[in-house]
Parts: sequence; C-alpha cells; structure tokens
Amino acid sequence: MAKTLTPEYKALIASKYWETLPLSDMNDAQWEAICDGCAKCCLHKFIDDDDVADVEFTDAVKEGGEEMHFTNIACQYLHTKNCGCTVYDKRTELVPQCVKLTQANLPQIFYMPPSCSYRRLHEGAGLADWHPLLNKGKKTAMHEQGVSVRGKTISELDADMVNFEDYIVSWPLA
Ligand code: SF4
Ligand code: SF4
Repeated sequence: MAKTLTPEYKALIASKYWETLPLSDMNDAQWEAICDGCAKCCLHKFIDDDDVADVEFTDAVKEGGEEMHFTNIACQYLHTKNCGCTVYDKRTELVPQCVKLTQANLPQIFYMPPSCSYRRLHEGAGLADWHPLLNKGKKTAMHEQGVSVRGKTISELDADMVNFEDYIVSWPLA
C-alpha cells in the first residue's frame, strides 16, 4: 500500500529532511515516513538458545554475543500483498511482542534487519533508492527489488510453530 500523497507528505518528500535531520530530532510525521513498510519486522525471529542448538546458524545477526534468526513466518495481521498492518492502531495491544520502533529504543535497533530504513539512517547509510520517500510514496521499487516480505511468507496461523527452526531464512538479512 502506497503512502497517501497528502500535501503534508509531499512537503516531507520535497524537504529531503532525512539527509540532514538526525533520527533523534524528527517529529512524529517525519519519523513515521522513514518506515519503508517492508514488513520484515513482522516476521517471527528468535534468539539462539539451547532448544534450537542443532540448527546450523549461518543466517544469524550477531550482536553482544547474542544470535538472532529470522524466519519467514509472518504475523497473522500482516496483509501479505501490500505488506501493511491490518490492525495498525491496535497493533501493540493485539500483539504484545509487536516491535514499535521509537527514538527511545533506537539502541536496540540491531534487532531490525540491515535494510530497515531506521537502521540505515542510524548507521549513516542514508535511504536506499527504493525507499518510498524517493519514489513518490510508492512501494513498487522496494517490492520489485525484493526488499519487502511480499510473496515470501507463511502466516503464523499456518506454520508449524513447534518446529519453527525449519522456517529460518536468510533473505531478511540481505
Ligand atoms: S523493518 Fe524497519 S523499515 Fe521495515 S517495516 Fe519494519 S520498522 Fe519499517
Ligand atoms: S501487529 Fe501489525 S505491525 Fe505488528 S507484527 Fe503484526 S502485522 Fe506487523
């Protein structure tokens, strides 16, 4: 789902604020617009522990001695075609583990995939050329370049959650 091209959103695009304004100084609208809507943060992930010790962990994010793994299992509330949240306003209420990235929890951003636009800005990489802010609010370029989760997931309602390690994937780390 593309962002609505309201006058306010058009003004944000025109200002190119992300090039000069640190994440910590962004207002709510600026902060929200940084989210590219890839939905990788709607995938189930887990930290390596003894329960899944037999899995070959080549796709892990390593930080502070912890290993985190992405699966292709998506939250049941994800719209798998447009990669939007179908319960956005109630998401943290319905899904307590739903990640709501804020300026306050930026230090935990390593839990986000490398392509996450907040993480990119935090690490000084700038926005990628597929970002909706650089494509008139559209997510087409992001989908076409395979950055989003579109077409790659299974719902948590259909997955065998007992054997969730079978669903480990590396593409969210690309
Ligand atoms: S991974 Fe980052 S950019 Fe992508 S949907 Fe989640 S918060 Fe937004
Ligand atoms: S509630 Fe919405 S934003 Fe949160 S994980 Fe599920 S689909 Fe994603």
